[in-house]
Amino acid sequence: MAPIFLLMSTAPFSWIRPEPHGIHVVPADCWIDPSKPVERALVTHGHADHARGGHGRTIATPATLAIMELRYATREGAEPVEYGETIRLPGGVDASYIPAGHVLGSAQILLEHAGERVVVTGDYKRRADPTCPPFQVVPCDVFITEATFGLPVFTHPPVQEEIGKLLNALAEHPERCVLVGAYALGKAQRVMAELRAAGYREPIYLHGAMEKMCRLYEAFGIDLGELRLVSDYPKEEMRGRIIVSPPSALNDRWSRRLPDPVTAMASGWMRVRQRARQRNVELPLVISDHADWHELIRTIEEVDPAETWVTHGREEALLRWCQLHQRRARALALVGYEDEDE
Ligand SMILES: [Zn+2]
Ligand SMILES: [Zn+2]
Repeated sequence: MAPIFLLMSTAPFSWIRPEPHGIHVVPADCWIDPSKPVERALVTHGHADHARGGHGRTIATPATLAIMELRYATREGAEPVEYGETIRLPGGVDASYIPAGHVLGSAQILLEHAGERVVVTGDYKRRADPTCPPFQVVPCDVFITEATFGLPVFTHPPVQEEIGKLLNALAEHPERCVLVGAYALGKAQRVMAELRAAGYREPIYLHGAMEKMCRLYEAFGIDLGELRLVSDYPKEEMRGRIIVSPPSALNDRWSRRLPDPVTAMASGWMRVRQRARQRNVELPLVISDHADWHELIRTIEEVDPAETWVTHGREEALLRWCQLHQRRARALALVGYEDEDE
């Protein structure tokens, strides 16, 4: 796609350079969410398309570093930064980590250099989430926003509505169980925490692949209530229960030993009927950890940057919207960022 606003190398903000495998902070020679190993990486959050292993040094929030340690079995080069803390990088660049409201540990990164301010959101959402602090609006000159759900058709319903559907299905089918497919980092714990917020006190049963990440959330003070492993209990025990598994387990051999599950899936993509059908989902739950269309444009209005750079999803409609509203904008051609598993 042709950028609507083309930057020349002599233009302002030339110290921050989008490259195919990440955003290069030139004076500090470090990269934000690089998709290949680099000497110094600033990582916004623990999802696999942002947090890769093998960097010399990794600067991230303590929770993101713990998630990366769980994934990559190493803490080598880990440098924690708390929310609100500012660190000095080489070349006169300051970096601050600010809540993004996406998953535990997720941060926007504010970069300041030569009087210019650039915010890289990573992934974010604007809805309240009991598992992480809310997104903060930070004024800046360049706002680099994700656009996973950057089409007007994507409007996420209130999460309480979707949790209500889940609880209704459970009440209607006491002889069955409700099996919820949810991505193991973030979505699964949010669904559990929202169930607790809705007053659900029964134990929640887990696929074994969920356990370590749930324990990590608990170690960071997120109360998920009583969790049990499906493998520790007989099939009969699963009737009338909520079970959470990775989406990949919804229709595999593992789920066949459950008592006639109502198959549910929690994802922003459940707005698209075809996606629900592809996964044989009986109960689609539109629960997303990304901003929907209205939240994306509201965020751009609230941040009110001189320039908006759009990446990581459906850039075109958001570019068009910026153009119509006299906002300078461009699309970045970063590769390897996918939120299929959102
Ligand atoms: Zn993410
Ligand atoms: Zn992402």
